[in-house]
Amino acid sequence: MAAVTTNLVAEAAARHKTTHTVTAALGRTLTGTLLLAAGVKELDRLTVQIDCNGPIGGITAEANGRGQVRGYVRNPRADAPLNAQGKFDVRAIVGEGTLYVTYESGFEIGLYREPYRGSVPLISGEIAEDFAYYLSKSEQIPSAVMLGVLVRARANGDHFIEAAGGIMIQIMPGADEQTVRALEESVKRTPQTTTLIRRGARPADLLQAALGDLRFELLEEREVEFACTCSHERALALISAMSLAEIRSMLEEDRGAVMTCHFCNTTYRVQERELAEILQRAEKEG
Ligand SMILES: [Zn+2]
Repeated sequence: MAAVTTNLVAEAAARHKTTHTVTAALGRTLTGTLLLAAGVKELDRLTVQIDCNGPIGGITAEANGRGQVRGYVRNPRADAPLNAQGKFDVRAIVGEGTLYVTYESGFEIGLYREPYRGSVPLISGEIAEDFAYYLSKSEQIPSAVMLGVLVRARANGDHFIEAAGGIMIQIMPGADEQTVRALEESVKRTPQTTTLIRRGARPADLLQAALGDLRFELLEEREVEFACTCSHERALALISAMSLAEIRSMLEEDRGAVMTCHFCNTTYRVQERELAEILQRAEKEG
């Protein structure tokens, strides 16, 4: 699987007002989650959660089977100086912790199946290696994962996401040794994904670069985007599910409610009149 995620990472960074180091961490996680989701049949929702002790506090990303992803971090303003290689020090803001992966399926056909959950300790904190470790350890799939986000400065000092994307290669059971060795060699020689994307590479070009002389067939192509499921109606539904006392206090003390979606940072303002209606309905239902 390969993806070019420049626009969606830029959207995530703008929505959450992240530091460049957080943009790199969140962008890699969003891209890795999309790639992981792309390899699953009949998936409704894949959630990747990084629970960690570094200043970023935690990262959550959620993708569906249609190329849509959303995500957030606990502390979007976390930062650290560039590392010894002159790159964003993602490891420094992530620290130690655990990577959790949850697959859910069946709800679109009205058949909710028990979610599949797996987790591994973070071995690197640089995200790509952690995804690869998860696949090999928890799902017994030897894999190579490359994830990158390139932030560049404009002449006026502003910054922008010049390239973001990733490649995920999973070795299927029964792959012959010669293929695996050829793959390992070509992956080692592959330039960084962001270098290729800057030069205009599309996902198929990324695969070609990573697979070298190995021949491949494209099974499917789809658009990817940052997309959230929140709405004003959902905000009202959340309030309806609260206790009468809570709704009453929002109405009488706050004269309204303000709710912000974690995933996309959109703020919903619920008016006094809407709260009064919700309260009336809730009181009637007892
Ligand atoms: Zn949202």
